[in-house]
Amino acid sequence: MNIAVSHPEVPLIGSPYDLRTSLSEEFSETDRRAAIESGECGFVHSFTTGSAVDGPGMRLVAWLAGCQFRCVYCHNPDTWKMTNGMPVTLSRALEVISQYRHSLRTMKGGLTISGGEPLMQRRFVLRVFEGAHEMGVHTALDTNGYLGKQLRDEDLARIDLVLLDLKAMTPDLHRRLTGMDNKPIHEFAHRLAAAHRPIWVRFVLVPGWTDDMAEVKRIAAFAGSLGNVERVDVLPFHQLGRFKWEKLKMDYQLRDTRPPLRETVDEAIAIFRAAGLKAF
Ligand code: SF4
Repeated sequence: MNIAVSHPEVPLIGSPYDLRTSLSEEFSETDRRAAIESGECGFVHSFTTGSAVDGPGMRLVAWLAGCQFRCVYCHNPDTWKMTNGMPVTLSRALEVISQYRHSLRTMKGGLTISGGEPLMQRRFVLRVFEGAHEMGVHTALDTNGYLGKQLRDEDLARIDLVLLDLKAMTPDLHRRLTGMDNKPIHEFAHRLAAAHRPIWVRFVLVPGWTDDMAEVKRIAAFAGSLGNVERVDVLPFHQLGRFKWEKLKMDYQLRDTRPPLRETVDEAIAIFRAAGLKAF
């Protein structure tokens, strides 16, 4: 396998709001499959530093390419295709983490791997987490949870925290929102609970889609019943990703949707709190 490291014209440290496309198209499908199978190389949208919202403390975040969901409100649709990510070898990824390891530890933070859907590149993620643990760096996985069943019990030990997106409880609504079934996500959440692995739930509040408070109550009841949810973040929908849908000439159903009102966000937070959860 002939692995190019990063991309000559695109900085590895960037922002999830950078539009990035076609950064590994020269990779043959065979080489891509081999890379994914071995975890020797990942396809990465970017790394960002200084995040305080993607896990405890100050975080270094790796945004991976590839996602099997098609969320109507996705603000990073350029991460859907693996070919849009730049190839980054495992050793290069560990070098980046090593550069930041002292400050991450000092600021009680760590490494978060997000996406896209990181578990599309499960072996790379687990090998990066293993390396991070060897450096004493806390690890968090930001996932839609759909592929959680592919993780073995010993893999869970490499993940200190799971940031789990709960998008909707009603199966039909979940399918309309994401194109996918939510049963595997619930099974993964139950498995994490049984293994006493902590979860932070993320819930995106989208006017006209997920702001029905009866639905929010169903999500809160599910999260509250697990026993391992340490925190819930209610994330108000925003339009920072709209330009990506337009540039990529994709049909964006939420073109005219506005962010939720503050009182609607507060109402949702109150519902999670009433279910016995710490919610923000
Ligand atoms: S799971 Fe995340 S990355 Fe994938 S489509 Fe949904 S919002 Fe976008």
